Amino acid sequence: MRLVLVGPPGAGKGTQAAFIASAESIPKISTGDIFRANVSEGTELGKLAKQYMDAGDLVPDSVTVEMVRNRLAEEDAVRGFLLDGFPRTVPQAEELGAALQATKRPLQRVVNFQVPRADVIRRLSGRRSCPKCQATFHVEFAPSKKGNACDRCGEMLVQRSDDKPEAIETRLKVYEEQTAPLIQYYAHKRLLSELDASGSMDEVFEALFGVLAPYSAI
Ligand code: AMP
Repeated sequence: MRLVLVGPPGAGKGTQAAFIASAESIPKISTGDIFRANVSEGTELGKLAKQYMDAGDLVPDSVTVEMVRNRLAEEDAVRGFLLDGFPRTVPQAEELGAALQATKRPLQRVVNFQVPRADVIRRLSGRRSCPKCQATFHVEFAPSKKGNACDRCGEMLVQRSDDKPEAIETRLKVYEEQTAPLIQYYAHKRLLSELDASGSMDEVFEALFGVLAPYSAI
């Protein structure tokens, strides 16, 4: 299965991507996760990406496209892949299309996660994560039983710096201006499926599974 998930930040793409990737035994390639890993390892890429991420802006296309091209060339992506958070601009989508065309493995489906703006803000602002074991929580929808500490390892939970109110505003504006045009772009290519992602995690998973059934390898 060769798949792209699009939708505003906080739409639940990452959570659902992890479920599908595990069910299909394909890698979940999340550009946000790759950037965050580089930030915590203190690499040159991480230092560059951090300034954009903290402000809620996009990392420049030149850097991001090259990173994804290299990741898609890895062995585990040959059977299929699930892209989460990439592409995020029309030029990124064009570069992705060209790279996949060159290896004769075009995209099979692009799923657009639709969630009302007010829900997105609620989901993002309540999100917390564990800096040690990477477990994720939500103060309202999936709280840790230990309050501000991680259920699994006891470490104090943190809020992503780009989930703070000013950065959320910028991320949503960037999404509307730069990422939302991808919906038309992929609709014209007849690759787009719309998904109501406003329900619970289980409801969204079931709906997504239905959309993807024709492309499943299992
Ligand atoms: P995410 O976890 O997908 O919300 O991504 C977190 C941040 O990483 C974004 O706000 C951007 O700063 C950066 N980022 C992730 N994916 C991309 C991308 N495809 N293009 C540019 N920047 C990205």
